[in-house]
Amino acid sequence: MEYFENVISGNSDKFDEQDKVLRSPAIRRRILVTGGAGFLGSHLCELLLEAGHEVICADNFSTGLRRNIESLTRFNGFSLVDHDIIEPIDVEVDEIYNLACPASPPHYQADPIHTTKTCVLGSLNMLELAARNGARILQASTSEVYGDPQVHPQVEGYWGNVNPFGPRSCYDEGKRCAETLFFDFHKTRQVEIKVVRIFNTYGPRMRPDDGRVVSNFIVQALKGEDITIFGDGSQTRSFCFVDDLIDGFIRMMASPTSLTGPINFGNPTEFTIAALAEQVIELTGSRSKIVHRPLPVDDPRQRRPDISLAERELGWRPKVELAAGLVHTISHFDALLAQANELMEVA
Ligand code: NAD
Ligand code: UDP
Repeated sequence: MEYFENVISGNSDKFDEQDKVLRSPAIRRRILVTGGAGFLGSHLCELLLEAGHEVICADNFSTGLRRNIESLTRFNGFSLVDHDIIEPIDVEVDEIYNLACPASPPHYQADPIHTTKTCVLGSLNMLELAARNGARILQASTSEVYGDPQVHPQVEGYWGNVNPFGPRSCYDEGKRCAETLFFDFHKTRQVEIKVVRIFNTYGPRMRPDDGRVVSNFIVQALKGEDITIFGDGSQTRSFCFVDDLIDGFIRMMASPTSLTGPINFGNPTEFTIAALAEQVIELTGSRSKIVHRPLPVDDPRQRRPDISLAERELGWRPKVELAAGLVHTISHFDALLAQANELMEVA
């Protein structure tokens, strides 16, 4: 209880100390991470394993990469199941992080029906598993549930402005329906749920062909290719570095049962896409030039999380500024591209 009083009173040093205790493996848990081979999932698996927990990673490798989890085989507690969550799975677990779902627009639009199935049937299967095991379950929901928001910044109480049959709907409506299932399992079957709404997050281990804006701009800048701004670049997003987000996940999972969410996790500093392009060019020292391409249908105009709930209830606030996070991400892609070039030379 004192732990949360410190959070609420903003006593962050003490909070950090107690947070370490809370995460320590005094109780070693068996944790299922769906989508564990993806960008966010692989960082989460690593942190949980480092804390001494047992981790089962379930992934269908549609967008996930084996190289993201290769280094995790050094932990005895790590195991991998090649599994599509639209099918039920039976494992004994104490906690579930449900992250499986393609997150980048080109990837989730490539097979929209499978995306909806992943969100809806996948969540249903994971909730049934949680109910059978009496496990806590965290859902990776998204700022996309706010659609093209008419309330700015976005608070959790805002219901959103979402097109039910546009190109983004398989993802947006899929994730909205997943939230519905989570809250109905909580109400009718007493499942302990944690619903987190993630705003644009970036960092090492994104795929070079992920298609989202940060990875696109960095890869284009490093290769000296044109940087493609969709539309005039005045639309905004708020970019959160991966380490900050994963810290939020862990705090949320450890929070009292009564804190179900939905809760926003994102960096509240808002940038235009044009400003992001300038920053990437500056940090990479690239000679790439900016070109404009048509704005995709239903592309949201603005995005910024109101994170007061996460600050008040979890003492969570992102620490990594955009420039610092971009530098880390640029080195990741730099190393990846150098490796690819070496392979080309050998071939
Ligand atoms: P990602 O594409 O890198 O990872 C998704 C992972 O899920 C991949 O490993 C993929 O192979 C796996 N997967 C997809 N469908 C599956 C299925 N049916 N069964 C099993 N595995 C499946 O994306 P990410 O950025 O790591 O996103 C992870 C989660 O966080 C997703 O649920 C996404 O919707 C959510 N999210 C991410 C962001 C972000 O900015 N990164 C923002 C909002 C929400
Ligand atoms: N975007 C862009 N160039 C790109 C990729 C994306 O200008 O090469 C824009 C996109 O139109 C959107 C913003 O960047 O306005 C963020 O796109 P992303 O796909 O990263 O995330 P989301 O739209 O899902 O927030």
